[in-house]
Amino acid sequence: MSLITVVGSVNRDFVLTVEDLPHPGETVLARRFVEGVGGKGANQAVAAARLGSRVRLVARVGADAAAILDALTAEGVDVEAVLPDERTTTGIAAVVVDDAGENTIVVNPGANAELGVQDLPARLVRSPGEIVLVQNEIAPEVVAAAVLRARDQGGFVVLNPAPARPAGPEVLAAVDVLVPNRGELASLLGTEPPATVDEARELLVRAALPCRAVVVTLGADGAVLKEAHSTDTMHIPAPVVDAVDTVGAGDTFCGALADALGRGTDLPAAVERAVRAASYTTTGLGAQTSMPYAAQLDAPAVTSAF
Ligand code: ATP
Repeated sequence: MSLITVVGSVNRDFVLTVEDLPHPGETVLARRFVEGVGGKGANQAVAAARLGSRVRLVARVGADAAAILDALTAEGVDVEAVLPDERTTTGIAAVVVDDAGENTIVVNPGANAELGVQDLPARLVRSPGEIVLVQNEIAPEVVAAAVLRARDQGGFVVLNPAPARPAGPEVLAAVDVLVPNRGELASLLGTEPPATVDEARELLVRAALPCRAVVVTLGADGAVLKEAHSTDTMHIPAPVVDAVDTVGAGDTFCGALADALGRGTDLPAAVERAVRAASYTTTGLGAQTSMPYAAQLDAPAVTSAF
């Protein structure tokens, strides 16, 4: 099986559940506190590894990250290129979630901001067609260098432009599959987010994004795929689920897409599997805690529901 290289962020997630989110100046007591491993890079790496892929992560963490490295290793993620940085601490995300599922998140990038172009492995792609998966929680120049290097070395580049920020045309042109959510797509195109599947289809047909394909995720509406060589779009609906918490859905989508593409699955079928995997994640609390293993996603009972 081919290797998936994920270049991205690692965070310590501090998740606090409260009855109501605090107003400015207010102090509220948490009902529950959970610490876990997060960050888009780590989450997407774990999502792909749980589905059976060989995954290595390229990232920076602080000197405080021994438990995180152990947890990622236990998930089967190769952390040899996760570099401990003594000068800083691991990224932190303080997540406060209320009873209605609304959340506020404050992120301290910490070591993620220290990941530099010099930290990227010289051989980002070891054999042609290998998947390289990148997100925007690291410096823009590192994203650009990773995408361009992966492309030069014959890799297959998947970019999740989250959080949204401008990307140069030369970077987008080197991307095989761009995976924005509705807000990120709108931000890239300077438009309003598409409210419906039809609006997303229209936007993708009109958009002049130079990537080989764009997959926009649409929450409960699933995803829409547009390949550059075709004027058609394809809507992949999401299964109807009892969604309790969508945290980690987007990351599961990207990890599962990379996993399927790495096995040689064609793009429409890979998107279909990514939608199912992401929808599965929404049925449980938390990000990594509710990401499916291959056996769970392929179980007959689940397959009929998903
Ligand atoms: P998040 O930031 O919450 O992780 P996102 O904004 O990056 O998510 P979304 O478009 O909200 O991404 O969701 C990604 C995928 O998750 C969807 O394509 C779908 O498969 C699944 N999903 C999300 N919300 C639901 C839902 N309510 N019901 C079923 N599937 C869902």
